[in-house]
Amino acid sequence: MEYFLTEQQKLIKDIARRVAEERILPVRAELDEKEEFPWAIIKDMAAADLFRIFIPEQYDGLGEGCFALCVAIEELSRACCGVALTYAANALGAMPILLYGNDGQKQKYLTAIAAGARLTAFGLTESGAGSDAGAIKTTAAPDGDDYVINGTKQFITNGGEAEIYTVIALTNPLKGTRGASAFVIEKGTPGFTFGKKEKKMGIRSSATSELVFHNCRVPKENLLGREGLGFIVTLKTLDSSRPGVGALAVGLAQGALEEAVTYSRQREQFGHPISAIQAVQHLLADMAMQLEAARALVYATARTIDSGVKSYTEEGAMAKVFATDMAMKVTTDAVQIFGGPGYMRDYPVEKMMRDAKINQIYEGTNQVLRNVIGLELLKRKALRE
Ligand SMILES: Cc1cc2nc3c(=O)[nH]c(=O)nc-3n(C[C@H](O)[C@H](O)[C@H](O)COP(=O)(O)OP(=O)(O)OC[C@H]3O[C@@H](n4cnc5c(N)ncnc54)[C@H](O)[C@@H]3O)c2cc1C
Repeated sequence: MEYFLTEQQKLIKDIARRVAEERILPVRAELDEKEEFPWAIIKDMAAADLFRIFIPEQYDGLGEGCFALCVAIEELSRACCGVALTYAANALGAMPILLYGNDGQKQKYLTAIAAGARLTAFGLTESGAGSDAGAIKTTAAPDGDDYVINGTKQFITNGGEAEIYTVIALTNPLKGTRGASAFVIEKGTPGFTFGKKEKKMGIRSSATSELVFHNCRVPKENLLGREGLGFIVTLKTLDSSRPGVGALAVGLAQGALEEAVTYSRQREQFGHPISAIQAVQHLLADMAMQLEAARALVYATARTIDSGVKSYTEEGAMAKVFATDMAMKVTTDAVQIFGGPGYMRDYPVEKMMRDAKINQIYEGTNQVLRNVIGLELLKRKALRE
């Protein structure tokens, strides 16, 4: 399918593919096995200017926006969804600053993020507040020139490794979601430590940790937007980053499809390659169709966001749900085509299937996002626009 990339977007795609094939592919199984954070690869991505893609030009970025970011994420995820997630979650963590930071905050943080000198993370989820994000308990009490943060965030991607955290906390617990605010909190701030590091089914090279705040003093200048804007920041951030999760899924499924096609040509049963069996061809055909449909939806959503439209909640949710359900199915079918060996760690499709599952869960579970899509649909005055 021709997606008419600009010369700059083609260049970004080529660079991301080179990093993926030369630096990620050879070590992905080892990173997964050892649950090792890919610092050396992160440095190579920074040297290749991949962290600059979505940052505006005035903050040392390329100003390329959501579409080019998705293209890069897809290429990285084709090699390893875990490493690609580290990269995508960095964009998620930067998004609140990009969308709601003032010029001083953008100068201070976005320039460092663009250089790849400092990774970011986004801290919303707590043990009692997953899908029900409005149930967060972490507080940010105003005290003189500071806020004093108390509480624990759970399952935070890049937790412990990132240096810049965008965190949602209640400045006025009595006001519920309208009492939440967004903050930038730097690693090393007294009172900010890291708790449990999770051991996961897939995406094992990515770090997932608790953020623990105990009387952590954060200067008032680290507030993003204004008090009470925390949930607006959250919703807009997630709307903007969900196409990136779709791109993780598309890249992952592309990798799985390629592995399945190659294997089907090599494996012989009944005197011929299994690729000669029509049942296998149909499985491959379904994988390819679903993958291309998901890619088209992710790309169209990213381009819609880049066009400057104000609201893209429905599009972002659709792209995330469709692409991640597709990746779960395509990676499972890839294992099926491999038969028994597909279930073993000797082949990459086993890891791909494990990596696929989380994409249906984080950044809004696919059930919750179906609620969102349904509600947005029913809000519309005209069903065809
Ligand atoms: C590896 C990993 C990385 C993560 N990274 C981050 C991160 O960087 N930052 C961050 O803030 N969070 C992160 N999360 C948290 C993630 O976003 C949540 O786990 C997710 O939103 C679901 O919340 P929960 O796990 O509490 O599940 P629950 O909300 O308890 O949901 C349990 C089940 O109930 C269903 N359910 C709940 N409510 C509804 C409803 N209203 N309608 C239909 N179904 C419903 C869910 O779909 C799910 O099937 C991460 C999680 C994981 C596992």
